[in-house]
Amino acid sequence: MKWQGVIQQYRAYLPFADDVQIVTLNEGNTPLIRADRLAEQIAPKAGLKLYLKYEGLNPTGSFKDRGMTAAITQAVREGAKTVICASTGNTAASAAAYAARAGLRCLVLVPEGKIALGKLAASLAYGAEVISINGSFDDGLDMVRAIVERLPIALVNSVNPWRLEGQKTGSFEIIDQLGGQAPDWHCLPVGNAGNISAYWLGYKQYGKGLPRILGGQAAGSAPIVLGHVVEKPETLATAIRIGNPARWRQALEALDESGGIITAVTDAKILESWKLLARLEGVFVEPASATGLAALKQQIELGEIDPVGKTAVCILTGHGLKDPATAVDQATPPLTLPANVEALEAYLAASK
Ligand SMILES: *Cc1c(COP(=O)(O)O)cnc(C)c1O
Repeated sequence: MKWQGVIQQYRAYLPFADDVQIVTLNEGNTPLIRADRLAEQIAPKAGLKLYLKYEGLNPTGSFKDRGMTAAITQAVREGAKTVICASTGNTAASAAAYAARAGLRCLVLVPEGKIALGKLAASLAYGAEVISINGSFDDGLDMVRAIVERLPIALVNSVNPWRLEGQKTGSFEIIDQLGGQAPDWHCLPVGNAGNISAYWLGYKQYGKGLPRILGGQAAGSAPIVLGHVVEKPETLATAIRIGNPARWRQALEALDESGGIITAVTDAKILESWKLLARLEGVFVEPASATGLAALKQQIELGEIDPVGKTAVCILTGHGLKDPATAVDQATPPLTLPANVEALEAYLAASK
C-alpha cells in the first residue's frame, strides 16, 4: 500500500474516528539503517546488530512530525483556529508546517539565542509567529500551559496526549522493519521525555515483544538522572536542553517496566558519537540525536550493557542540517587552493 503518513498506516492502533480529516505530510516510514562499521567501533567482535532509525528524514527533519500529524489533526477536529507550543526548535518547525497545511495560526515560544539556525529558519518560512523569550524551554512551557487555560488555543507540546499517540508509531515501524520483533535495546535522547514515553506505549500496544529502554540525557541537563529539577540546563545538544521534563513520571515508568537505564553523557561524548555517525556511516544528525548512541557506547564501556549477539536500535531524532553552526564549528575549515589542476595535484602528492 502507498505510504500516506503514520495515521493512515497505523489507523487500527490509533484512537481516531474512521471519517477524520487527516492533516499529514506523509511523515514516517523512515529508514532503519544497519550500522556494522559503527557496531564494530563501539563493541568490537561482539556481533552487535546495531540499527539507526533515521528520524531526521521526516518532512520537517525530526521525529516531531509523527506526533504533530496527530495533534494538528485532532486540533482541527476540535475546531481550533490557533495552535501554540514552547520549543527548543523542532516542535516549533513541525507545528509551523502542519499548522500551515491545515490553515491554522501558529505561535511558537523559543528560548532566546538557544535555537539552532535550521529550526528557526524553517519555523519562520512556514509562517509561524516566532516569539523569542528571555528564559528557558521550561519557562516557555509554563507560559503556554497557562495561556491555553485563558484563551481558546490548542496546545501542541507533548503534554498533549495526541502527540504521544502519533509518536508511538515509531515503535510499530521498528518492529515491522526488524521483521516482526522488538530489539533488545532501544536507545534514545531524553529531553522533555515525550518520545521515550511514546515509544514505550507503542511497544506495549503492538504486542510483539519489548525492548529494554536506554535513555541518554546531556550531563548539563540531566534532571531524570539526578532526580531533581535542573534550574539552568546547559548543553550544546539544544534539543534536549530541558531541566524539568513534562513527561518525567511516564519516563520513569518506561525505564522501570522495561528494565531500562537512564544515564548522563557529557557534551564531549555526544559530539564524539555525532562524529562517528557521520564518518563511519554517512549519517548526519543534529548533536542531540547522537545522545542515544553516546549512551549505548558509554554503558558498553562501563560493562552495564553486554552487547554480545544483541540487537540495538538508536533513534536519530533530528537531521544534521538543523544545526549547521555546530557542524561548522566542529570541523577544520576547508582548504583553499588556486583554481588549477597543478595545485590540486601538488596537494594530493603532499597529503598522500
Ligand atoms: C524533541 C527532541 C528530542 C527530545 O525528545 P523529548 O520527547 O523531548 O524527550 C531529542 N532530539 C531531538 C532532535 C528533538 O527534536
